[in-house]
Amino acid sequence: MHSLLARQLRQGFGSLDAAPERLRPFLELVDRAYREADEDRRMLERSLDLSSQELLAANAELAALLAGFPDLVLRLDYEGRILDFEGGTEGRMALQSDDLVGRRVSELPLGELAEKVAVATRKVQGGERLVTFEYARAEEAEGRHFEARVAPLCEGEVLVVVRDISERIESQAEIERHLSLLRSTLDSTADGILAVDRAGRIVVFNRRFVQLWRVPPEVLRPRDDRRALEYVAAELQEPQAFLRKVDEIYAHPEAESRDLLRFKDGRVFERYSLPQWLDGRPVGRVWSFRDVTVQKRVEEQLLFAAVHDQLTGLHNRPLFVDRLELAVRRIKRHPERAFAVLFVDLDRFKVVNDSLGHAVGDELLVAVGQRLRTCVRPEDTVARMGGDEFTILLEEIGGAEDAALVAGRIHDCLRQPFSLRGFEVFTTASIGIALSALHYGSPDEVLRDADIAMYQAKARGKARHEVFHAGMHDSAVALLELENDLRRAADLGELRLHYQPIVALGDGRLVGFEALLRWEHPRRGLVYPEHFMTLAEETGLILPVGWWALEEACRRMADWQQRFDPQRRLSISVNLSQRQFAEAGLAAQLGGLLEEIRLPARCLALEITEGAVMKESEAASERLDRLRDLGVRLHVDDFGTGYSSLSYLHRFPIHALKIDHSFVGRIGAGGENLEVVRTITRLAQDLDLEVVAEGIETAAQRALLGELGCQYGQGYHFSEPADARGALIMIAAGRAWPPPSPEAPLPPQLAP
Ligand code: C2E
Ligand code: MG
Ligand code: MG
Repeated sequence: MHSLLARQLRQGFGSLDAAPERLRPFLELVDRAYREADEDRRMLERSLDLSSQELLAANAELAALLAGFPDLVLRLDYEGRILDFEGGTEGRMALQSDDLVGRRVSELPLGELAEKVAVATRKVQGGERLVTFEYARAEEAEGRHFEARVAPLCEGEVLVVVRDISERIESQAEIERHLSLLRSTLDSTADGILAVDRAGRIVVFNRRFVQLWRVPPEVLRPRDDRRALEYVAAELQEPQAFLRKVDEIYAHPEAESRDLLRFKDGRVFERYSLPQWLDGRPVGRVWSFRDVTVQKRVEEQLLFAAVHDQLTGLHNRPLFVDRLELAVRRIKRHPERAFAVLFVDLDRFKVVNDSLGHAVGDELLVAVGQRLRTCVRPEDTVARMGGDEFTILLEEIGGAEDAALVAGRIHDCLRQPFSLRGFEVFTTASIGIALSALHYGSPDEVLRDADIAMYQAKARGKARHEVFHAGMHDSAVALLELENDLRRAADLGELRLHYQPIVALGDGRLVGFEALLRWEHPRRGLVYPEHFMTLAEETGLILPVGWWALEEACRRMADWQQRFDPQRRLSISVNLSQRQFAEAGLAAQLGGLLEEIRLPARCLALEITEGAVMKESEAASERLDRLRDLGVRLHVDDFGTGYSSLSYLHRFPIHALKIDHSFVGRIGAGGENLEVVRTITRLAQDLDLEVVAEGIETAAQRALLGELGCQYGQGYHFSEPADARGALIMIAAGRAWPPPSPEAPLPPQLAP
């Protein structure tokens, strides 16, 4: 029985058993109720006991947690008095003191915190659940930054959590510094850069990218790589190939690639693409583009220049030799694939160059090059070897006839005059042909023979072609011999002068002679200038040879004058080649000679061609002035055959024009040249110049020239160039026409 019930029964009935029997069931119910109440109470007590223990434990846990917290947690009343605090393990809060509790925040060295907490507290009082703010403590050397959160606790209290965010701020600033560096690097590079992530989104691009690709902002704005790619592809020469290549690269995220993009407008970009790595994995791709248009153009130009002639755009010598080498090798395996080399050299190119200037000369070369191209098939090689020399390689030809056919075509093609800078320029070419049938071993051999054949064509009158044959070697060798012989000719006394009389057309009076050079060769006999003059000029031998002629002619005339022409009416004309004229010491040397032999300078006429006068006209005019100062006369030889502008006639101290015999020869027949001669004589009269007509062969020509106002003349009609003895007979007779009898015995004092 429950002890309480037992006690109550004892008090009420005296003993336990005294209670009436009928109460028993009731008492049992009460007993159970007591027991249950006991049980309930025990349970309640135990649970109360338990929850307070848990509360303690939880409290302890919370305290420990807060103590280990980097943030400082403060419990404050509305006045800012610290009721409690925890945490702040960072230590940087500078709050070591244990007696914080009870002090006001404003008393502590916490910078702006107190002020801002006060404001936040008021807001919390006003009902805000959370107020956050940042503040800095500038008084610390490094300037630290904090973040504070203020929240209501219970009535009259707030909780403040202060966190040191200096590091976060610092690393944020660091990131921003990096980003700005990256951006300025991106913007300062000459390359256009586009970075794309693996999902095909544009991550970043620089200004240069936009400039280079000329992409409108709306294309880039959606940051969709595909869209940008398609836009730029449309600008390229091969958009499909470009897009295919891009897909291929995207399919291999680890691949690097580089290639060239060619734009429709001619620009060329170099494209470089490499993966963007993060932790060893490709996370995207960086595309960089560089405008290499100029570089490519220069590269292409260099490449072009390596195998082309700069002036004409034709192929150059190295390339020609390469191709010829292939042809030489091929024919050894395939004898049926015959080839020919044509060596083309312009006739009289020097005249054009010297009289019309290098600019016109250059234009002529360009124009000739173009015409040559039209004379051959596209697969044939046309090259310029230098100067006015061109070579043509004809491949797969039938034989000599084919090569000759092309040569004929070239002659035809050059026959049309070239119109250059207002001048009508005529040119012809001498062509040498070498055929593969001669079993050549090297390109040099082919070129050598074509060259020899070309010389042969020149020697046979120019404006023609010759096919090389073995016999030509001999004449080439002969030419070499001639050169060696000429070197010694002056020393060996093999040079001679012949004298052609110059007469006054009116009365046939003898006025002088033109001295003309002859070479008495021990084996060849008398050799005329046309056979050795070119050689002499090419080798420079003209300088000693020409000086010999000048000195000899002057001495002879001085001698004749002293003996037979006391009034010194006769004069001597001597031809002066361009190279002699260009010699710096000429005037001085000549002055010395004239003084020594006492020949009045006015009795010497120097015949100079237009080309010589026109060449480097500044220097030419100076040289002419010096010669004029000596007092010698200056005659323009072969007048009318150059391409002179005639303006030099005003500028230079010239005394006479010699009309070339090509004009004189045809004034009689058909009269085609009559106008030319008339114009020249009128011009001469206007300029107060004398006129000498060359190559008068008939009485009719003489008469006509006289009528046209030409004062002087020379030619076979009067006399062929004669040796010194023949000249003396004319001097003695005082006339060249009618010819004095050569048999007439000379008076003894007239012996040459
Ligand atoms: P050039 O000065 O024009 O001389 C005139 C040429 O015409 C001479 O030829 C002469 O013999 C020739 N000739 C004269 N009359 C007639 C004629 O009626 N009909 C024809 N068809 N021809 C005629 P050559 O002597 O053979 O001289 C040729 C050229 O050689 C000269 O042309 C001259 O440029 C040059 N030359 C001659 N001697 C010398 C020299 O001593 N020094 C230099 N530098 N050149 C010379
Ligand atoms: Mg002459
Ligand atoms: Mg002449």
